Amino acid sequence: APAPPPAQHLFSDPAEVEALRGNLLAWYDKCKRDLPWRTLAATEPDADRRAYAVWVSEIMLQQTQVATVIDYYNRWMQKWPTLQALAQASLEEVNELWAGLGYYSRGKRLQEAARKVVSELASRMPRTAEDLQKLLPGVGRYTAGAIASISYGQATGVVDGNVIRVLCRLRCVGADSSSPAVIDRLWDMANALVDRSRPGDFNQALMELGATVCVPKAPLCGECPVKQHCQARRRKLFGKPVPVPDVEDCGVGGCPLCPPATEPWDSSLGVTNFPRKAAKKQPRVARTATCMLERRGCHGAPEYLIVQRPSSGLLAGLWEFPSLPLAQGLQEEKQREVLADHLRAWTGQPVAAGGLRFIGEVVHIFSHIHQTYVVYSLPLDGDVILDPALSPSRWVTEEEFHAAAVSTAMKKVL
Ligand code: SF4
Repeated sequence: APAPPPAQHLFSDPAEVEALRGNLLAWYDKCKRDLPWRTLAATEPDADRRAYAVWVSEIMLQQTQVATVIDYYNRWMQKWPTLQALAQASLEEVNELWAGLGYYSRGKRLQEAARKVVSELASRMPRTAEDLQKLLPGVGRYTAGAIASISYGQATGVVDGNVIRVLCRLRCVGADSSSPAVIDRLWDMANALVDRSRPGDFNQALMELGATVCVPKAPLCGECPVKQHCQARRRKLFGKPVPVPDVEDCGVGGCPLCPPATEPWDSSLGVTNFPRKAAKKQPRVARTATCMLERRGCHGAPEYLIVQRPSSGLLAGLWEFPSLPLAQGLQEEKQREVLADHLRAWTGQPVAAGGLRFIGEVVHIFSHIHQTYVVYSLPLDGDVILDPALSPSRWVTEEEFHAAAVSTAMKKVL
């Protein structure tokens, strides 16, 4: 087993832990934001219904801001107020409601998991973090801990981006906070700290602190309810960590949780020395040609052809204008030719490369891809018979396009 970390990085004093819990919970009771899933979790007597609401909100909140999620969450719960209702929804409906929220596989897996609970678990949610993670697709360690603590009162911790930041600052953890060794230590800390009688509130309080007070760039340390327990703040004020007997074990090399010797404490950064992350990988650069095939609909309004993407991979199952990934460095003339070839399959008739009108370029940043859409349009005379042997395709008006399961990137293209 690895040696325990030096005391600077631990919560080893029971009296301090008690005080920290009390201060944090008192602050949460007074200052917490009113959020619809919190209201439901606090008022709903049925534990499985609470769990469903927490689950939906937590999946939506992954990589998405609270302000954006509220509207999606309300619409979702109105349409599918229970797990059983969601289990009966079609993937198309789920994608339509999810459109614009990003990371579309989240919605798909949520619905798959709801079906699994209904069909294989007799509609009973697993009730511990371990079982939730083991039995439900798309439910990771964090989501499982959140559902189990908030809905079923299990005294188990959670570690998300906000908690990582708060814990790293509270205990001066400056090693790469995305490394498995540090993440494991943070889970140990979260599990040790969580309040035994109010675990759900405690976890939400810790996350809330990270979201509203201990924010990434300019934390409001003066207003922080746990400032007297914060080693980073102490270090900023007094220039050194709290004097604990084995503090000399830290910072002089060898401590797995201290900043690396090559990047020591930077006094101009103060508490924002923590957390630290290894440099991010640059996103992959990609170019895609896309074409808006346009025809006059029966009332004279323009209609556009959209086609469905494959059921796995990026933007799985969503609809888009016919598109084609482009090889790097392809000349404009060649781009038109390959796109015209591609369109021939959809229209069932020859498409002249020269007839494609270049509209412009649209850049969209996915988490790991810097995508440029090279946008063309092509007005069509006469009708086009869509080939049912190809991927699903359909003509839509602009209004129908916006209501369809299309990505934010395609809305930009339109
Ligand atoms: Fe974060 Fe400052 Fe509070 Fe420490 S004192 S936990 S750095 S807000």
